[in-house]
Amino acid sequence: MQRRKFLKNSSAASAGIFTTPLFASCNEEAKKTRAIETLQAIRPIAICTWDFHNATTKAWEVLENGGASLDAVEQGVMVEEADVNNQTVGVGGRPDRDGNVTLDACIMDKDSNCGAVLCMQNIAHPISVARKVMEETPHVMLAGKGAEQFAYEQGFKKTNLLTEQSRLEWGEWKKTSKYETVINIENHDTIGMLAIDKNGDIAGACTTSGMGYKYAGRVGDSPIIGAGLFVDNEIGGATATGVGEEVVRTVGSFLIVELMRQGKSPQEACEEGVRRIMEKNKDRDDFQIGFIAINKKGETGGYCVHPGFTYREYSTKGHENKEVTSYLKS
Ligand code: ASP
Repeated sequence: MQRRKFLKNSSAASAGIFTTPLFASCNEEAKKTRAIETLQAIRPIAICTWDFHNATTKAWEVLENGGASLDAVEQGVMVEEADVNNQTVGVGGRPDRDGNVTLDACIMDKDSNCGAVLCMQNIAHPISVARKVMEETPHVMLAGKGAEQFAYEQGFKKTNLLTEQSRLEWGEWKKTSKYETVINIENHDTIGMLAIDKNGDIAGACTTSGMGYKYAGRVGDSPIIGAGLFVDNEIGGATATGVGEEVVRTVGSFLIVELMRQGKSPQEACEEGVRRIMEKNKDRDDFQIGFIAINKKGETGGYCVHPGFTYREYSTKGHENKEVTSYLKS
């Protein structure tokens, strides 16, 4: 007992005497630097995975009018959720192997509040349900029937998500039922969006119908806070597209934000994020992953496994589709 008390006291004392003032002053310095960076940042700004220029245009509209980054990312990704031609987000998404379209989404705000829905059917805008989970419940995630029920309670309408096009393609797929991932946008057009508003606050959103013809009940990275999306308003944000199983294994978006906290630029952090994944997959090159990131200064970056991934950026500097370099060169 005595000894334990002594150890406890001595470690507390050493923490107090030697480390706390040092850490405290480092933290104070870091906070000051970040406050200056916030003032000097490029803002407002919105970025999203792939070339979803209608989504960034919508987000920009919100931001330019002084809207919050949270509203910008929600309304931005809703554009893709509503687009029937985007077959991995919202209405028109590819179904699972049983023919059911199941949607995943998550959202995170400047105060690290977050909400998510997983494997939810019959609701056109999962991102808005995720926001309701964040704002109206004590929970972070709702899944399946529970999420759908909650959506109805919140006034969302039942919507058929399976378009004729997706139904026909599923019918074709069933002839062989062969599951293979198609690299790039044909099968990976999940939208992840990050924005900084005029106040310098960051928010993010991510929404998808997941991998086409997945097992019923499968959930990837996109609605998992830390994997498909992560925001820390002191540091920045990151989001992902691609084979979610691989992103989950390294908690990719959280990793990228932490790398930025350690001083890496968004570009360097995305590169390291992809490298980590590839190191765990030494014998594989049959999947695509793309990360994008933004830091408090409004600097952005992106990196991917295979060539072909791009991201959209809308800021006071213009509206641009940004080419992204890749880990594998062809
Ligand atoms: N990341 C999504 C998922 O794994 C799909 C994708 O972006 O291709 O569900």
